[in-house]
Amino acid sequence: MSFVPPGTGWPGDPATADTPVAHDPAGVRRLAAGSDDLAELTARQSVCRACPRLVEWREEVATVKRRAFADETYWGRPVPGWGAERPRVLLVGLAPAAHGGNRTGRIFTGDRSGDWLFASLYRSGLAERETSTYAGDGQRLIDTRVVASVRCAPPANKPTPEEKAACFPWMARELALVAPYVRVVVALGGYAWQAMWPALREAGYELPRSRPPFGHGAEVEVRHGDAPVTLLGCYHPSQQNTFTGRVTAQMLDSIFEKARSLAL
Ligand code: SF4
Repeated sequence: MSFVPPGTGWPGDPATADTPVAHDPAGVRRLAAGSDDLAELTARQSVCRACPRLVEWREEVATVKRRAFADETYWGRPVPGWGAERPRVLLVGLAPAAHGGNRTGRIFTGDRSGDWLFASLYRSGLAERETSTYAGDGQRLIDTRVVASVRCAPPANKPTPEEKAACFPWMARELALVAPYVRVVVALGGYAWQAMWPALREAGYELPRSRPPFGHGAEVEVRHGDAPVTLLGCYHPSQQNTFTGRVTAQMLDSIFEKARSLAL
């Protein structure tokens, strides 16, 4: 099997064998709009098959595997939003890693970026543990939720414009469902910064007309109804950024500590 069948006991699997499957972008729009709560939404996200190239890629990676993980079963499905159901802090990333989230079924779990991210979230009081290595490891986010703009691992980490557009309704609906609680949104990297603006607008946020440029520490005040919400930019803790020192542990900590102090 090139992916974990829904409802077969994978820790945290939100879906069952009866969860409806989107087979094209129209199906994503319909099923996202018709999801009344996070449980239904994440279940539907996790079985989506709307992007043929990404379905093929995620399942091929799950079959071929990386040698270090040859004995493991790969998730091989879209990686849904994960964390608190009433989050005060929302983290937005780009897409799952082929041998990270696509293997473990949980966003940023089991890859190098996640090592940096979760260590910082832990130091900042937003995660219960310092590491996040596999679904069912006991890790829990504190008042925090993480979503990817595109829910499937893309080849070369580059989703096409069509794939980004196809996946958009999943994120927009998730943002709308958690909006009553969220006080800080952190974009992890420039693509997430670009991707979250239209999703925030769709979810009912009042945004400035012109989009401020992305940067580490970029900060924008917006509103959702009567509630003030702060958008923060954070460089992505990718291997390229952490190897080169463009991102340091202190830089991550400063963003998440700020997010926590604003939100809690
Ligand atoms: S990227 Fe999004 S829309 Fe495309 S198959 Fe994955 S979950 Fe579905």
